[in-house]
Amino acid sequence: MVKEVVEVTGIVFKRQRYKEADVLAKIISKDMGIFTMLVRGALRPKSKLSASVLAFSFGKYQVLTSQKGLSTLKTYKDVKQFTNLYSDLTLNSYACYLCDLLDHAFIEYQSLGNFYKLILVALDKLNAGVDPEIICQLVELQMLAVYGVRPQLKQCAICGETHGPFDYSISAGGIICQKHFNQIARMHLNDKQVAMIRTLGLIKIERLGQINVKSDTKKVIRKAIDRIYFQTVDINLKTKKFLDEMRRLNI
Ligand SMILES: [Zn+2]
Repeated sequence: MVKEVVEVTGIVFKRQRYKEADVLAKIISKDMGIFTMLVRGALRPKSKLSASVLAFSFGKYQVLTSQKGLSTLKTYKDVKQFTNLYSDLTLNSYACYLCDLLDHAFIEYQSLGNFYKLILVALDKLNAGVDPEIICQLVELQMLAVYGVRPQLKQCAICGETHGPFDYSISAGGIICQKHFNQIARMHLNDKQVAMIRTLGLIKIERLGQINVKSDTKKVIRKAIDRIYFQTVDINLKTKKFLDEMRRLNI
C-alpha cells in the first residue's frame, strides 16, 4: 500500500524510547484503530513533537502511514493532556489497564467502532474524578463483547424471564431467574449487586453520572468480574496485576 499522510484523532497511551533519540508512541485512534507512531528526534531537547506524545495526550495527529507497521508522526494540532491520568499513580494504573485491555482485544489498525468512544469517555471521566472503580468495572463488563463474551444482562439467559430476582451464572452466560437457582452454578449475588452489574454492563457511558456505590458492593462486583474474565477470557495483563497491587495497598 502506498504511504499517505492521514490526520487521525486519538489518545497516546504508551511510549518507549527507540534508537538514540526517537520515541515509539502507541495511539488509540478513532480513524485507524490502534497503531504505533515513530516520533523522530522526540528525545532531543528542541523537539517540537515530544510534548504531543506524552502519555495520555489526546488530539489530532498527522501521520505518514501505509496502515501497516509503524506510521511516522509528522505534526499535530489541538493536543491536550489528561493531566491527572499522568500525574496520579492510582488513576494512571487504572488508565493504563483499561487501554491495555482494549489494545489486547484488537489487531493493529483494526477499526474500534464504538469502543473508541467508550475508552475516550472513560479516560475523560477518570481524569475528571468520577469513581475509578466504577468506570473500570463498566469498561470491563462492556469490553467482554470484544473478547467474544456477550453476557446476557437484559433477561434470564435460560428462559428469557424479565422479572427478578436474578443471579449471575458464568456457565449460563448471564443473569438467570430464580427458577434455575437450584439447577446451575451461580455466583450467589444479592439483588443490589446483580442490578449494579446489569446497569454497568448496559448503560451508555456518557449517561453515567456521579454514582455512590458502597465499597462492599464494589468489592463483590470486582470479584465477580475477575471471575468472569478468568473463566471466559483468560488474559494475563501486567497492567492488571499492577492495578490489583495498587488496590490492595489502598485498603
Ligand atoms: Zn429463567
